[in-house]
Amino acid sequence: MRRVGLNAYWLFLGLSSLSWLSAGTAWAALPHDDRGVDPAPVPVAALEAQLPVSGDAISQGLVSTSVATLSAIELSADGTQLIVRTDRAVGQISSGWHQRVTSHRIELTNTQLAQQVMLPDLTDHPNLLAVRVNQVDPTTVMIQLELTARTQVGTIAQPSPQQLVVPLGGTATAGPPVTSAAIAARIAAIELPNVSHSRPRIVIDPGHGGADPGAIGINGLREKDVVLPISLRVAALLEQQGAQVVLTRQDDRSLDLPPRVQIAERNRANVFVSIHANAISLSRPDVNGAETYIYASRDRPVADAIQASLVQATGFRDRGVKSARFHVLVNTSMPSVLVEVGFVTGAEDAPLLADPEFRELIAHAIARGILNYAQTHL
Ligand SMILES: [Zn+2]
Repeated sequence: MRRVGLNAYWLFLGLSSLSWLSAGTAWAALPHDDRGVDPAPVPVAALEAQLPVSGDAISQGLVSTSVATLSAIELSADGTQLIVRTDRAVGQISSGWHQRVTSHRIELTNTQLAQQVMLPDLTDHPNLLAVRVNQVDPTTVMIQLELTARTQVGTIAQPSPQQLVVPLGGTATAGPPVTSAAIAARIAAIELPNVSHSRPRIVIDPGHGGADPGAIGINGLREKDVVLPISLRVAALLEQQGAQVVLTRQDDRSLDLPPRVQIAERNRANVFVSIHANAISLSRPDVNGAETYIYASRDRPVADAIQASLVQATGFRDRGVKSARFHVLVNTSMPSVLVEVGFVTGAEDAPLLADPEFRELIAHAIARGILNYAQTHL
């Protein structure tokens, strides 16, 4: 979401490694560098149980004293409800999923944040990853819940003027579209062309590995732990459909960039596909989506095929096919692409990238893209 206004402060709690920064901090929405040197992880501030909220709106007289003041968000003892505490009734309550994904927003009008807002400790919560509060304008507060992929949010109740109750989990009336059944249905809908007549030689390159974790995202999600399982499944699916597949690595080991190129060249690959996950600063959970990189024009058809399949199957935001001088693209002599399957730092993407079932969907989508290309070009 876009942070609006000078008084927009995000509070993160319950995540192992998140920082909070004031709105307006500029971060370029660039992918991490896959040419061999990823940017250093963003230094993270230690979190305390209570984080101060800007009182700027109050001290500047922008906030009327008749608005409700939100002082705490608590978790019920059993973890199934969030309780939002205010000193009087809030105005309008609107609530809904952001896009199709795992971020649920609750907007409260005629409400301001107290100078200190108590937020719950989410350390051991199974499916609530983060609670953020944000003063979007002097009388509107946005609560954003980051949830695991299959968590549902029920209808918000108002048992007293000073209390809102947000049910989490099983008894939902509105759930995220990304349920286990929905993922399975999407996988089942993916048709993989058979290429056993042409037996194309395909090299699959899981990015990073071993001592190089790649990017580190929300909840410590490591790029190498996302891309290896996806790559292994892509390889298995391609083989199942008749392709000859070589993986540059099959386990969690360090591998420089030149050997990845050598494996592709030595095997006279028809196509080289490097699989990565994207990242920017942890202060930019709003940046999400899939993109595919090429270097030469000969890379374009396979990139288009993979990107289209990936976006169609997953619903990831489409960041398009882009050009970059990545080592593995510049130095390979066959059509080669580098797929960034989503952002480990993205509030929408990260829970999906961390979900083995969703990774299976991603693998099917990438395999379909490669096979579609192989069927028409090889
Ligand atoms: Zn990478």
